[in-house]
Amino acid sequence: MAKSDQHSVAFPILDDTQVATLATFGTRRSLRDGEFLFRAGDRDYNFFVVERGAVEIVEHSSGETRRVAFHERHAFGGDVSLVTGRPALVSGVVRGDTEVFEIAAGDIKRIMGDRPALGDVLLRAFIARRELLVASDFQGLRVIGSGSSRDTFRIREFLARNQVPFTWIDMDRESQVRELLRGFGLSEEDTPVVVFGSKPLLRNPSTRAMAELIGVRRPLVQKTYDLVIVGGGPAGLAAAVYGSSEGLATVVIDAVAPGGQAGTSSKIENYLGFPTGISGSELTNRAILQAQKFGTQFSSPSRVTRLTFVNDVNQIWFDDEGLVVSRCVLIATGADYRKLDVPGRERLEGSGVYYAATVTEAQMCRGSDVIVVGGGNSAGQAAMFLSEQTPKVYVLIRASDLRMSMSSYLVDRIEKSDNIEVLTQSKISKMLGDGRLEACEITNCQTGEVRTVPASAVFTFIGAIPCTDWLPKEIEKDSKGFIKTGRVVSDSPYWTAKREPFLLETSRCGVFAAGDVRVGSIKRVASAVGEGAMAVLFVHEYLASL
Ligand SMILES: Cc1cc2nc3c(=O)[nH]c(=O)nc-3n(C[C@H](O)[C@H](O)[C@H](O)COP(=O)(O)OP(=O)(O)OC[C@H]3O[C@@H](n4cnc5c(N)ncnc54)[C@H](O)[C@@H]3O)c2cc1C
Repeated sequence: MAKSDQHSVAFPILDDTQVATLATFGTRRSLRDGEFLFRAGDRDYNFFVVERGAVEIVEHSSGETRRVAFHERHAFGGDVSLVTGRPALVSGVVRGDTEVFEIAAGDIKRIMGDRPALGDVLLRAFIARRELLVASDFQGLRVIGSGSSRDTFRIREFLARNQVPFTWIDMDRESQVRELLRGFGLSEEDTPVVVFGSKPLLRNPSTRAMAELIGVRRPLVQKTYDLVIVGGGPAGLAAAVYGSSEGLATVVIDAVAPGGQAGTSSKIENYLGFPTGISGSELTNRAILQAQKFGTQFSSPSRVTRLTFVNDVNQIWFDDEGLVVSRCVLIATGADYRKLDVPGRERLEGSGVYYAATVTEAQMCRGSDVIVVGGGNSAGQAAMFLSEQTPKVYVLIRASDLRMSMSSYLVDRIEKSDNIEVLTQSKISKMLGDGRLEACEITNCQTGEVRTVPASAVFTFIGAIPCTDWLPKEIEKDSKGFIKTGRVVSDSPYWTAKREPFLLETSRCGVFAAGDVRVGSIKRVASAVGEGAMAVLFVHEYLASL
């Protein structure tokens, strides 16, 4: 979209009919020059429409105050945080004697459902505003830390996976860091630190503290949900959109952050409807917003550790021993990356050993050579992405030919690339480095020859194992741990109904599985999305049969 078009989508002026509709949901409020309507950091602040006077939107993430927008008669405030329930990133200050209609954040979602045409104008504006803000000089949260610190990586990865705009200030490269830290009353020993504007927020925060800061860890309502979805990858997100849009009380729980494996992909090129590809984080962002618009609740990071049953009710237990109950469960926990079993790997996790190739990881190794291990499409995508960010990429495979496991379009691109070298019949035998990865010993499996290759990062894409070790015996799995569904479970001793199991139903009635976690799944974004959508149909049929 051209910038001027994006601006008009972001800041439309409502017509009299639209204002009259919104006014029925709102309360009129008079304010004086300089009063704040809301401040950066506020949660569940009110949506507003300007009736008279003006509201200036400002941001101060760098410490300086900067105007972002100026709303006059019949312009409205707010951005995606009104839908996600996360804290505001900007502040709204009244300019001159002003009158507004205010509407509670919760009612905005209701308006989106009840008045779709008006709801679309608001939601499009909210999305475009966030995009314009992120593309501007907005710094968001600032993370000050060293590139060789595992905690710095952990914090940056968490923020990126949760789509929080942030800026990383690399202590090893920025000369002014000590002065900057002093300005916050901090020293190098305090790092990594998270600051916003001129305020220090957290010193080397735990993941839970980060989750609370960005507003993703919110208590769930204590009621019986229709559908609890464990896992917020493409399968879980699709089920959330269909479930909540069709009136099911739906909650998504994810151990890390919604998005799953797809969320770590720098570019998905084969998902229908995106001819120029879409990044995993953008796809995730849009899906979360879509699900939240329909009323899905999210809870992350929350790892589910147990599933128990009391009659027809399912109890889903968290790692902190909290629980949520539901009439149906969808298991969409996907698969987790396999790790290399070589000396040095464990010590260098997060300090050069990575399992995703996104901007977050690439920033850690700019300027030095990297190694990608694996011969599948995810390895191919990673190699292509990293070849644009680093001087040289080695792709390491055990097989003798990349074409045996990778789509030909990716192999062709790799072959044409000047800075990717494929090392066939090879494996990493040792990782070397003091605090950070510096080099790898690579063994040629045929000749036994060992060479040391300097590299700042190893990206591993060697397959995945299903995340099913938390499940009880009632949910049958195959020998590799993938969940059985459909007809095959009708013989299970745990299958109690007289009917045949639905296609995506597990050996326990009312518990379904979708996506990569399922026996025989296709391991693609599109198929996971399709299964998530299908599962909701079976949830309806199951609930109707009770
Ligand atoms: C780097 C990469 C690139 C890829 N590129 C493409 C591509 O271009 N095109 C394509 O079609 N496919 C691609 N894939 C494959 C695709 O991403 C997967 O097939 C898809 O994500 C599977 O979706 P899913 O929802 O089944 O599971 P996942 O995406 O694996 O999501 C599962 C979710 O469950 C959560 N979880 C796990 N255990 C628990 C628990 N106990 N409690 C709570 N939550 C839990 C995880 O945190 C995760 O978020 C790629 C995969 C990777 C890794």
